[in-house]
Amino acid sequence: MTVLETQEHKDLRAAVAALGSRYGRDYLTRVVREGGHPEELWAEAGKLGYLGVNLPEEYGGGGGGITELSIVLEELGAVGSPLLMLVVSPAICGTVISRFGTEEQKRAWLPGLADGTRTMAFGITEPDAGSNSHRITTTARRDGEDWVLTGRKIFVSGVDIADATLIVGRTEDARTGKLKPCLFIVPRDAAGFQRNPVDMELQAAEKQFELVLDDVRLPADALVGDEDAGLLQLFAGLNPERIMTAAFAIGMGRFALARAVAYAKERSVWKEPIGAHQAIAHPLAQAHIALESARLMMQKAAHLYDRGDDVGAGEAANMAKYTAAEACVQAVDQSVHTLGGNGLTREYGLASLITASRVARIAPVSREMILNYVSHQTLGLPKSY
Ligand SMILES: Cc1cc2nc3c(=O)[nH]c(=O)nc-3n(C[C@H](O)[C@H](O)[C@H](O)COP(=O)(O)OP(=O)(O)OC[C@H]3O[C@@H](n4cnc5c(N)ncnc54)[C@H](O)[C@@H]3O)c2cc1C
Repeated sequence: MTVLETQEHKDLRAAVAALGSRYGRDYLTRVVREGGHPEELWAEAGKLGYLGVNLPEEYGGGGGGITELSIVLEELGAVGSPLLMLVVSPAICGTVISRFGTEEQKRAWLPGLADGTRTMAFGITEPDAGSNSHRITTTARRDGEDWVLTGRKIFVSGVDIADATLIVGRTEDARTGKLKPCLFIVPRDAAGFQRNPVDMELQAAEKQFELVLDDVRLPADALVGDEDAGLLQLFAGLNPERIMTAAFAIGMGRFALARAVAYAKERSVWKEPIGAHQAIAHPLAQAHIALESARLMMQKAAHLYDRGDDVGAGEAANMAKYTAAEACVQAVDQSVHTLGGNGLTREYGLASLITASRVARIAPVSREMILNYVSHQTLGLPKSY
């Protein structure tokens, strides 16, 4: 198995980093302060083919995989301007449509998702189900040729800027018992589809929403894939989501660490710069090692996914998300600490990452649920719930 990157991957990293650096942290900070979205960066990344690098070439994509898309997100994050919607639009929705969509759905959506002119959000989390997706109750019932969707979702990112949201529901006859999920494309302005922003303590361009689906009527072709295909189709999207969350976390951790290292080389309050004190240097070194190790796990997960090993990718994607989130939280914490009081100022821009880094620990699947997964699926330990 090749875990090291090819020359093309290195070139992609360098090119994306160059694009991101032209925007950087100041750009994103300004956009967030003005309540906008990083439209210019999104559009330019789309034009250069980075947003759809994982999507099939015949539909306007780059013909690569999650390996390449994770490089794009990590490098944008490492220069301080991550695009969270990459996690959902091309990675989840683009993947699910290209693997299970009809020819019409592929032609309708993939070229736009690839060049960034269209965006799709993804909604699975429900207020009364949370981490237990088997309890979701958003229900789809047939009415003639149409589908009618009813239910609620919470914390769904980017619904306001997305042309549509891929909603995970269950069919009416599957309302009880094991989850048989099915996926529907719900246009942003569909009648009965309401969104209410959640007041988050996060400085990010992408907002989270509570969604209410009140008898949302959809045509037959809103269903993506087979209504009986179940979890397989869902995990075709959820594994890329976990790998991309790892990329998001690694990028953020690298960004914070780079700022802290630069500061530790400059700041002197005794004879030497503070970076000469091992109490400062060693935790930064540990953070670097943790981020590099997380990247290795992410590369393994992406490699398994891209070669079609959905089962192997499942375990690796969970472990990559876990390792990357923990490495990110650790890197951000130590970076803020390295800057002393400046770590908490707006000017140095690290303090808001304390909150942001926690996102990777809780979403899209929490640290504890990954530990549960590894306990039960990998180690065969008994279940308490
Ligand atoms: C910024 C942000 C963006 C998001 N974007 C999206 C999105 O675009 N689409 C979407 O669908 N969702 C999104 N989410 C939702 C996210 O996936 C959920 O928050 C996450 O799955 C956890 O669910 P919950 O918040 O209901 O927590 P809960 O399930 O209520 O869990 C609360 C705590 O209990 C722990 N816990 C629960 N069960 C167990 C157990 N069996 N054993 C041990 N511990 C347990 C959890 O680990 C957690 O620490 C987003 C969330 C955030 C914060």
